[in-house]
Amino acid sequence: MMPSDKALVPFVSVDHMMQMVHRVGLARMITRIADAIEDDFRRWESFDKTPRVAAHSPVGVIELMPTANDTLYAFKYVNGHPKNTTDGLQTVTAFGLLADMHTGYPVLLSEMTLLTALRTAAMSALAARYLAPEGADTMAMIGNGAQAEFQSIAMQAICGITTVRLYDKDPAATAKCAANLAGTGLKVVPCDSAEAAIEGAQILTTCTADKQYATILTDNMVGSGVHINAIGGDCPGKTELANAILHRSSIFVEYPPQTRIEGEIQQLDPDHPVTEVWQVITGAAKGRRDAREITLFDSVGFAIEDFSALRVVHDLTRETGLNLPLDLLADPDNPRDLYGMLMRAAG
Ligand code: NAD
Repeated sequence: MMPSDKALVPFVSVDHMMQMVHRVGLARMITRIADAIEDDFRRWESFDKTPRVAAHSPVGVIELMPTANDTLYAFKYVNGHPKNTTDGLQTVTAFGLLADMHTGYPVLLSEMTLLTALRTAAMSALAARYLAPEGADTMAMIGNGAQAEFQSIAMQAICGITTVRLYDKDPAATAKCAANLAGTGLKVVPCDSAEAAIEGAQILTTCTADKQYATILTDNMVGSGVHINAIGGDCPGKTELANAILHRSSIFVEYPPQTRIEGEIQQLDPDHPVTEVWQVITGAAKGRRDAREITLFDSVGFAIEDFSALRVVHDLTRETGLNLPLDLLADPDNPRDLYGMLMRAAG
């Protein structure tokens, strides 16, 4: 029995996602996702929000990230296992789903490993557009793993960065990143220490993976007027910045109840003041106040960013036709005769 069209769910595989990115262009796709996040952050109060649901083990975490507004529901399944790369596996993999709130039927199932890299880069660059010092043209990129090139290209496309200074404790990761960024128009400067990487940079991105309280930036490395884009600390017990830096910074976060658990601010008192990025976007709160201020985007990744990215991919499945219709939902002729549908299948 063939399911009807309404029961077929468009599935975007990794291969389809890669084709989609190439059709649209990587920088344009990241910009489109950043625009969608900006739109959804303007509607922040209309979303159901909850800190993500996490299952921790000594070596990693598996998380579910749900959110909904009055028309669409989305969730992402994502893991974070820093030790994976030594076994030839990725630190972060993900997939996710978008559903119609009116019927409860899924309208899209998608790979989200690539999409997470795109949306994380889009979110970083969107926050930097509001918070980085004027005229910022150089970014230090510390941690040159899976996310690094996407972060660099997003900052180039959305914030006008022209130079990226790379450092990773593993020189092979830096060499990979430098080779991948050749030809993007960015000036790429591989560095042999984090101290060297931050020289002359107005945006400092930390994107390392280690399941511990790490100190990627020490207090004396951070001068006035920079914007810190701290992405890698996104789990209880997993941070990247010296505590003293947090006390010198104006801190911007996605969703405080989640960031207090997972972000750099887990190192601070629970009532330490933070500003929500959506309020900066709507104008309800101030972003950067002056040229000497240190701004810190304490990024952990929030469900609404995935919702926005899935919305873009859903539109792109229609624009490009790139998807596989998946027989995911039972579709009996008589909706109340699920049993009959099963029995007739025996013949
Ligand atoms: P990855 O494992 O591919 O790369 C991490 C890199 O960090 C590796 O190359 C490693 O050598 C390097 N590194 C580790 N410790 C370092 C140190 N002390 N100094 C310099 N380099 C160091 O991981 P990835 O997929 O690029 O993700 C990086 C981090 O970002 C992870 O912790 C992940 O959980 C986090 N992440 C956050 C978000 C978000 O929304 N905030 C989204 C995706 C990933």
